[in-house]
Amino acid sequence: MNAPAAPAAVAAPADAEANTIAGLPLREVLPGILMFTLPVEYGIDHVNVYLIQDGAGWCLFDTGSDCASARQLWEQALAGPLQAGLSRIIVSHHHPDHMGLAVWLHERTGAPIWMRPEEAHVAEQMHVRRAEDQAECVRFICRHGLSEADAKAVVHDVLQASMACAVPEHIETIAPNARIAIGNHVFEALVLGGHSVAQVCLYEPNLKLLLTGDQLLERITPNIGVWPYGETDPLPRYLDSLRTIAKLDIAHVLPAHHRVYQAGVQRAHALVAHHERALRKFLAKLSAQGMNAAELGLAVYGDQHEVLHAYLAMGETLAHLLWLERQGHVRREETPALTRWYPGAKAAELPTLSLS
Ligand SMILES: [Zn+2]
Repeated sequence: MNAPAAPAAVAAPADAEANTIAGLPLREVLPGILMFTLPVEYGIDHVNVYLIQDGAGWCLFDTGSDCASARQLWEQALAGPLQAGLSRIIVSHHHPDHMGLAVWLHERTGAPIWMRPEEAHVAEQMHVRRAEDQAECVRFICRHGLSEADAKAVVHDVLQASMACAVPEHIETIAPNARIAIGNHVFEALVLGGHSVAQVCLYEPNLKLLLTGDQLLERITPNIGVWPYGETDPLPRYLDSLRTIAKLDIAHVLPAHHRVYQAGVQRAHALVAHHERALRKFLAKLSAQGMNAAELGLAVYGDQHEVLHAYLAMGETLAHLLWLERQGHVRREETPALTRWYPGAKAAELPTLSLS
């Protein structure tokens, strides 16, 4: 193993009980690679970001969401065990628990922000700044079955208030398949679609290590949905990404949520099986009288009490409907105001997915 020795900054004995450094939710997961677990105040309660020893400083992979408690932990870490500073900030994708503190950390440390331009573009769209864009967003959401009041709440309370985060003025572009030297390691940048339009995962073949962001999670299934911005047909692109991951030799998966795990390839196969089951369920619940995506989402997921969850269910349903439509299992009828889905010519056949 060609991992560097742990730097002096983290040589202090870890808290044995919690296995943390300096009392922070920071711990070494492999030599020279730290996991920093930060609080998130919506949706999920935490996110893992990673620090890879990079010369005198640390290369950061994802940043955490912008909340006071996360900022405070960063202040403590940068004044303590991470006082060597950040060499660069790699952002996997535009979701706020990953990108939320990128600009703040850049301003605080001077580290450049590396990411995909498509992700920076979608991050900017999440602000939905112009009135005509807000109206288009509302039309998109209503067309798929949510009420106008819920659609407006999505724009204001979900997109603008939760999803939008500070967008850097300047980024260093990560090219697909770029080899990025970080400290003693060389990582390959995998640009993968489906969960987000161009999520960056980093693979280190010597360590057989994959930093996944949200692309491959162990305990939860990454959200795959169609939204007003970003992915327009995410399921095929997500399946492609699982194909890419399933070909890797993986010994360590460092995910954005929950613990580090080993069985990355098996998890890729399990996620294919999950989406195959989902496709079959959507097809089975689709009424012969036709349904919009929100109605079918309700039939499959049950009543979603929060508008965020109703919106997520609508987007996930639509992602699966587009796949079913392409294969002839369903068909759509559209007016300018509404898209309705019906069983198609191959409705009686079972949808089947595979990685081959
Ligand atoms: Zn995400």
